[in-house]
Amino acid sequence: MKTEIIAVGTELLTPDFQDTNSLFLTAGLNAAGIEVAFKSVVGDDSRDLACALRTAIGRADLILCMGGLGPTEDDRTRETLARVLGKKLLFRKEIAARIRERFRRRGLRAPAANLKQSYVIDGAETLDNPNGTAPGLWLAAGRRRIALLPGPPREIRPMFESHVLPRLERRGGATVLRRVIRLTGLGESAMEMKLKPVYAIVPPGVGVTTLASPGDLSIRLTAPVKGPVEAAEARLDRIVRAIDRALGPYIYSRDGSSLEAVVGGLLRSRGLTIACAESCTGGLIASRITDVPGSSAYFLESAVTYGDRSKTRRLGVPKALIERHGAVSAAVARAMAAGIRRTSGAGLGLAVTGVAGPGGGTASKPVGLVYIALARARGTAVTRSLFFGSREDVKFQSSQKALDLVRKSLTPARGKPL
Ligand code: AMP
Ligand code: MG
Repeated sequence: MKTEIIAVGTELLTPDFQDTNSLFLTAGLNAAGIEVAFKSVVGDDSRDLACALRTAIGRADLILCMGGLGPTEDDRTRETLARVLGKKLLFRKEIAARIRERFRRRGLRAPAANLKQSYVIDGAETLDNPNGTAPGLWLAAGRRRIALLPGPPREIRPMFESHVLPRLERRGGATVLRRVIRLTGLGESAMEMKLKPVYAIVPPGVGVTTLASPGDLSIRLTAPVKGPVEAAEARLDRIVRAIDRALGPYIYSRDGSSLEAVVGGLLRSRGLTIACAESCTGGLIASRITDVPGSSAYFLESAVTYGDRSKTRRLGVPKALIERHGAVSAAVARAMAAGIRRTSGAGLGLAVTGVAGPGGGTASKPVGLVYIALARARGTAVTRSLFFGSREDVKFQSSQKALDLVRKSLTPARGKPL
């Protein structure tokens, strides 16, 4: 089933907005065994939209089109698709009644503009939208299926799950099993070298793809289910074990979870708390740790001690130590970690100090030089890294390495399943 996603909205063609809905839709489609063949983004212009729709109808069997179902003048997806298909728009009074009722509950009168959302393309089914006024539409054009869905993520997500996916499963998309293994601490080519023996045992039909960005890598496995699910599971298990043998120490999750979620789980299961002292990461580590719901069970605080004086005042790093070694040094990282551990009362103190760039590097302390220290009851460990990339890349890689240091310190045997 060739599948195309069309995102409609002029804002999605500016540098300020991303089409994030299509990523969510793709994840759901993939889980149902449907790969996406095309994606397009088009502005709120009827002619351009008609062109995108005609192209999609010419090359795809399933088309998910989102955005432009709103009440404003620039929302024209419904009308445009009707025109492209040569179908009429029919006013449905039960939809209008529902829209009026939605407004009435908030003590308001439905604006005339919203009532245009009561029109349905002749022959289409409506898809109920519990979080908004615009219903979605589902229609068959020949062997093609087309869904029109609203743009706001909180509206489209539940609608996709409760209305679109069930309709696709009824059509019997082949089931595909998936695994996502995530790693950090090595580069893409090093990973490829170590994966050689794994590629050698991959049976035909099983997909192995890798994805790498600075500081984070993933290996995605897919196996179509032909026959018993257990057989497909076993084929994937065998590959996962081979990946474990090749790359064990670098693997932080085998189910796609984020590093911060994995670290959170480890801290929680050991009843440990953590506090951070961040210089070049500027709070990024705290932000990532607190992205995990329930992190208050183990995360106490993070002090963003960017200036030298703050390192001394907040963490008790001796002024003389900073003068002798410089703020970016193993000695200062160590003192920061011990300082935050002592002053916060946390079980673990994690500290980062480095040169994020692009300026500020010297021959002895180049851009990308980062010291990370972890203070525990049994002493303080410190690492030195040299990261490449933009300021943002250096910050992210620093946070990644810092979190991974915590993971490793809480994982008894390196490479064993977490
Ligand atoms: P619309 O249905 O075109 O009125 O879209 C309403 C709002 O939904 C837009 O202002 C965006 O903020 C959001 N939105 C629309 N399309 C997308 C998309 N593809 N990904 C993420 N957000 C979107
Ligand atoms: Mg729009």
